[in-house]
Amino acid sequence: MAFHDIAGNGHAKAILKMALGRDRMPNSMLFCGPRGVGKRRTARVLAQALNCLNSKDDACGECGPCRAIEAGNRKNKRGSFPDVQEIEIREDKTEIIIDQMRELRAQAYLKPMVGRRRVFIVTAADTMEDEAANALLKILEEPPLFTHIILLSENSEKILPTIKSRCQILTFLPISDEEIEKALQERGVPPDRARITAIVCRGNMEKALEMDWDAIQAERRNAWDFFSGLAGGTDPAALLRRYAYKRESGKRAAVKDELAGLLEMLSIFGRDAVLLGEGGDPGLLFNPDFEMELREIASRLGPGRALRFIGLVHRAAASNDKNGHFGALTTSLTAQWLRADEAQ
Ligand SMILES: [Zn+2]
Repeated sequence: MAFHDIAGNGHAKAILKMALGRDRMPNSMLFCGPRGVGKRRTARVLAQALNCLNSKDDACGECGPCRAIEAGNRKNKRGSFPDVQEIEIREDKTEIIIDQMRELRAQAYLKPMVGRRRVFIVTAADTMEDEAANALLKILEEPPLFTHIILLSENSEKILPTIKSRCQILTFLPISDEEIEKALQERGVPPDRARITAIVCRGNMEKALEMDWDAIQAERRNAWDFFSGLAGGTDPAALLRRYAYKRESGKRAAVKDELAGLLEMLSIFGRDAVLLGEGGDPGLLFNPDFEMELREIASRLGPGRALRFIGLVHRAAASNDKNGHFGALTTSLTAQWLRADEAQ
């Protein structure tokens, strides 16, 4: 894999290629941006490029180091290329812990064993507890020239300012729907499915590539049940509770992401209802396969209430992005929805 095999974020890739070409790659970097936009894959290609025997500013994918690093990634463990390591949250933990940073520190000052550069990719860097962050900080203060530390984060505001100030920050943006559609079509997905998948995956390329059509349809059907329940006057809390089981699975980021996807789909159903309610062209629907049901809801809600619905969903999405607190979101959505109802 080379940089051009990763979709989107051309600006980030261009900056990295330029720094590689000039041999001016910073030793401490923070890649921040939402989930599934290619931060980890970009970091891996960068690790390959820093050790590649054939190319200066990219990964050739063919030489020994490129292959070994790629193989190490596939096995999802270190070993094949000991100089490149990914540090992830351990299975029995919810955050990066101090032991992992101590281990990193012990290795960061050792010369590369087989390659030119040591690369440590620290995933979920925003989950680091203070002790771990302080241990990391010590390395970032004086990193050895042959070591590169790449922190990945979906939530850079949770990273200590002292860490941020020592890193070159590279911001990754969501992949546009068009780029996701294009990537899917290149992989043989029919255009209408590619379009719907892009909408459902909201800028998350990784999810778009991984999800199969049945799963996409199941998510839409879920969102549709939610949407028609809301439009029919069901309390959002009851509907949201159905999603609560996701919390049991552990990571808050997953719940937050799940809710964000749900809210996005609700907003798109709402937008389609407004379009139909205002006599718009059905050819512009994002959900043409729901046209009949959407027409029915559009006439029941009326344009004013459908628009208020979209406003409500956008506010809920903004609050979810900010704190992702499930209980608070449920309460505020319910209160706002009831208020909107009373305003009728
Ligand atoms: Zn190579």
